[in-house]
Amino acid sequence: MQWNNWSGRHQVEADTLTFVRREEDAAAFVSEYAKSGKTIRVAGSGHSHAPIVVNNEAILDVSGLSGIISVDSEARSAWVRAGSTIYSLGVQLHEQGLALRNQGDIDRQQLGGVIATGTHGTGSKLKNISGSVLGVQLILADGSIVNCSADEESDLFQVARLSIGSVGVVTRVEMQLTESAVLQESGEPMSYDEVAPRIPEFIEGNERWEFFWFPGNDQAVTKAINPSSEPASYPLAEEGSRRAYSFEVLPNHRPVPHTEMEYSIPAESGPECFARIRELIHTKFPDVEWPVEYRTIAEDDIWLSMAGGRPTVSISVHQDVRLDEEPYYRACEEIFLSYGGRPHWGKVHYLSRDEFARIYPRWEDWWRVRDQYDPKGTFLNEHLRNIRPD
Ligand SMILES: Cc1cc2nc3c(=O)[nH]c(=O)nc-3n(C[C@H](O)[C@H](O)[C@H](O)COP(=O)(O)OP(=O)(O)OC[C@H]3O[C@@H](n4cnc5c(N)ncnc54)[C@H](O)[C@@H]3O)c2cc1C
Repeated sequence: MQWNNWSGRHQVEADTLTFVRREEDAAAFVSEYAKSGKTIRVAGSGHSHAPIVVNNEAILDVSGLSGIISVDSEARSAWVRAGSTIYSLGVQLHEQGLALRNQGDIDRQQLGGVIATGTHGTGSKLKNISGSVLGVQLILADGSIVNCSADEESDLFQVARLSIGSVGVVTRVEMQLTESAVLQESGEPMSYDEVAPRIPEFIEGNERWEFFWFPGNDQAVTKAINPSSEPASYPLAEEGSRRAYSFEVLPNHRPVPHTEMEYSIPAESGPECFARIRELIHTKFPDVEWPVEYRTIAEDDIWLSMAGGRPTVSISVHQDVRLDEEPYYRACEEIFLSYGGRPHWGKVHYLSRDEFARIYPRWEDWWRVRDQYDPKGTFLNEHLRNIRPD
């Protein structure tokens, strides 16, 4: 049965593409299938650019495991089924006066998918979405269901809250939330020369700030998003001037199929690294039309987080999915790595196991714990086996 990712770049014929509606069914499927010695990859919404769902044995579609299980209004937290899409959670949480602390550029992904890859939005004081995970429930390769958190099976928690889908089927996630509040978005076009010297000032002065730089005209479209005391305004304005609740303002419509490489680098190197990418495009890749995006992420303590142990800036390059992006992305990757960059787990990279071992201090620990809970490699695919330590 055929599975393909959002952009169509990754297409695979799997032995089985199984859709589950209940955790019991998922657990029974995993324990039966794993006995055959074959591998299983879980599919979320398929919005990853890296081949991290691709598998020619089993692909398990968990979109049927969706919905909010319980809400603790006082603690501002909730247990949520991992197959819930971010957009469906937005409105349901809002009805309880709550919201995710931050979101990415789009909201079509599933919660299980976003936490598996360290998906993030922008905001120098806002962590990636894995950074709001308080607890995880998952199905292991033998079909058993386990819970983990900072206080219970804490090593498993380190792996499960950013797992690249490689330790089991995440069925439930406990999320730290925030009060649902109105945000005002303000978009402003500026020349690159105007933006570049003011990047630290804009980041400091806004709760969320980012920009897209367009190589063709050397213009940046900047976007600031801040809390507002004004009421939400409907119908929603165009992207760049919306005023509404966070779940309505943070996500955007990004329908044009593309590929993407994104690296996270130490925040202090962001402006200089960006300037090098701009120079690379102008001198070596003048035909690139797709923009380059600049965002910020707060530091966290997650073993495989792109923002682990350091305040972070992410820089993303894009290309039309019909074009060969490799020479361009490889040249960008060389620059990103020279600044200590870490690739986004859901986007394109060309790194080897040795390079990962160099850039993640807890790389071996992450694999040791993963292997302990899945010794036969049931939840690995070729992409992961290729970077597994020898
Ligand atoms: C248009 C577009 C915009 C994007 N914007 C952003 C952005 O703003 N910020 C950002 O950081 N990223 C962004 N991304 C990347 C995207 O958020 C990640 O790739 C994310 O993982 C996709 O989620 P998904 O539900 O589609 O998961 P999939 O791509 O289907 O799967 C991703 C990984 O999660 C695993 N997985 C999924 N569900 C489960 C589960 N229940 N249990 C165990 N493992 C699971 C899969 O096995 C796989 O390893 C964007 C991607 C696209 C295409």
